[in-house]
Amino acid sequence: MEIWKAFLKGFAENLLGSEETFGHGPDVPMVARPASGEIIKEPAMEIDGRVMTADEFVSYVETLEFARPLPTKLFLHHTWKPTLETWRGKSTILAMKAYYEKQLWVDSQGRWHEGWNAGPHLFVADDGIWLFSDLRYDGVGAAGHNERSRHLEMVGDYDEVLPSGAMLSNTIAALGIINERLGLDINKLYFHRDVSTKTCPGTAVRKEWIIPQIKAWIDAYRHDEGGAPAQPSITVREALTRQIQGQLVGVNPAAALAKAGVARGLLGALTHETRLAVDGQRYIAQVFAEALLVPEGDWDSVMSLDEFEKMPPETP
Ligand SMILES: [Zn+2]
Repeated sequence: MEIWKAFLKGFAENLLGSEETFGHGPDVPMVARPASGEIIKEPAMEIDGRVMTADEFVSYVETLEFARPLPTKLFLHHTWKPTLETWRGKSTILAMKAYYEKQLWVDSQGRWHEGWNAGPHLFVADDGIWLFSDLRYDGVGAAGHNERSRHLEMVGDYDEVLPSGAMLSNTIAALGIINERLGLDINKLYFHRDVSTKTCPGTAVRKEWIIPQIKAWIDAYRHDEGGAPAQPSITVREALTRQIQGQLVGVNPAAALAKAGVARGLLGALTHETRLAVDGQRYIAQVFAEALLVPEGDWDSVMSLDEFEKMPPETP
């Protein structure tokens, strides 16, 4: 009975953990933990810890000297945990480093070690591209496939929902520039699940969905002689607002109606607030501009600016 209780307790601790657990990581054998005297404690993991915008990361990789022989495989992952909601930037990075430093692994001679020597190379979130293990050298991301490979982790769980927003555009730029710099074929992008039973980088993510987006980024990058990233330097909203700013009125951004206008993706206020009463009910009203736009020649594709901005990145 006592043994059974102890087993359950240990099982529960492993599942729930007194500390936070992260990610799926590489496949770790499910075997009993050896006595502590039999475990070789590894030195602290060295990480980079910087966060970069997509532009900064592109410039960084452009001049990076990768160790030879050059990597031949680029792997895409999702963290599963942490999610974008629980992501706290640098403190999450440090918590993951601490977590990896406690992981057990067995070397080829059957000796137990505590603490990985390296982890994934990049964690990509809405707040930027986080540099983890040195991109010049091999890291740890997929059991049996860590040699001459590089590993990018999208922060979040993409088993049910597609990646989107800044996290996705950062991911596409990072995969694009690494692929380009290493001279790899983006059609051969690896998913962790290619070599594992895990769903990583998430069941919702399919190669025919993401590879064309990376290809488009690479095409734009190659097309741009300056080698600058593929993002436009100015958005449609900025260009339009600049052109018509003489027709808009200034608003107090903290006002309820002004905030609601921004939330609804409206372009700006055309009038100041005005008071009116109808059937004894008093209102404050303000007229806002909503822009409609259509690509020249494609007259059936009219959309509002808000709809335009919410479209997924263009795929060829
Ligand atoms: Zn993975």
